[in-house]
Amino acid sequence: PYDVLVVGGGPAGSSAAIYAARKGIRTGIVAERFGGQVMDTLGIENFISVKHTEGPKLVASLEEHVKEYGVDVMNLQRATRLEKKDLIELELENGAVLKSKTVIISTGARWRNVNVPGEAEFKNKGVAYCPHCDGPLFEGKDVAVIGGGNSGVEAAIDLAGIVKHVTVIEFNPELKADAVLQDRLHSLPNVTVVTNAQTSEITGTDKVNGITYIDRASGEEHHVELQGVFVQIGLVPNTEWLGDTLERTRFGEIVVDKHGATDLPGVFAAGDCTDSAYKQIIISMGSGATAALGAFDYMIRN
Ligand code: FAD
Repeated sequence: PYDVLVVGGGPAGSSAAIYAARKGIRTGIVAERFGGQVMDTLGIENFISVKHTEGPKLVASLEEHVKEYGVDVMNLQRATRLEKKDLIELELENGAVLKSKTVIISTGARWRNVNVPGEAEFKNKGVAYCPHCDGPLFEGKDVAVIGGGNSGVEAAIDLAGIVKHVTVIEFNPELKADAVLQDRLHSLPNVTVVTNAQTSEITGTDKVNGITYIDRASGEEHHVELQGVFVQIGLVPNTEWLGDTLERTRFGEIVVDKHGATDLPGVFAAGDCTDSAYKQIIISMGSGATAALGAFDYMIRN
């Protein structure tokens, strides 16, 4: 059996595997796609100490670093079930069952898509999901935020300080964000809020040049010219496969304590799949390190 088995090969899982392997214990990592969300990222400018890098380049360095330590890397393998017996068992889609004394879950998350024409086509060409990451790329430009919940309104407030103008597009008749956020939003001079509006298309040529929405009350179609669209309709953790085996929030995020421990003894979690307050590369890596040290502590006590 493994001492530490990491599920997920993004920044959190890579960091956890390196911290575990450096303790000289038997470490494995199972990943559906090594690199995770970073593989889909173009420019990265907030990975501290590296002024600018690109997703695939950072993933190559992660992989090289992980492989420095004799970690068993099982790429292109999807975990489908976890069960605690004497050891913890992890079943893969191909039917194999791996056993380990401890498990660190770092299966990340995915942004919910609006699924309108243009979204996939213009991803990284004006369609963005992370205001902390990509906001500065739209300095002085016009953008839209799709979604008027807390994350959409927070994004709009954040972006309003950088870009020329922000249009917030909310499907429901009212914004869903907390009142304090809405008050702050309405106090900004360069924000327009459109409610009861269904986004129908993100338009462009080689990159985004506008957004089309339908006024749900009148059925009328409107088009706004702009250069960027931030989709903020939810970040979904990749934790469905865990069912009721451990505690998750109502959003599906795995609940962890300050050691990265879940409520199932020996099972730890890190990164975007957890209830961490913010979801970023550097934060995932920190929590991966915490979970590995937590797992090591657990092992020497059991
Ligand atoms: P992920 O990166 O999501 O990795 C999850 C891993 O788990 C993957 O290997 C996946 O294949 C695997 N996995 C999932 N389910 C299973 C399963 N059942 N079995 C086995 N493996 C599984 N953050 C920044 O700090 N700066 C940026 O500039 C930035 N830009 C971004 C741009 C885009 C387009 C996106 C989508 C995100 C961006 N982020 C950025 C956010 C950042 O990528 C995430 O916070 C970070 O990748 C989270 O790391 P993670 O390891 O927790 O999860």
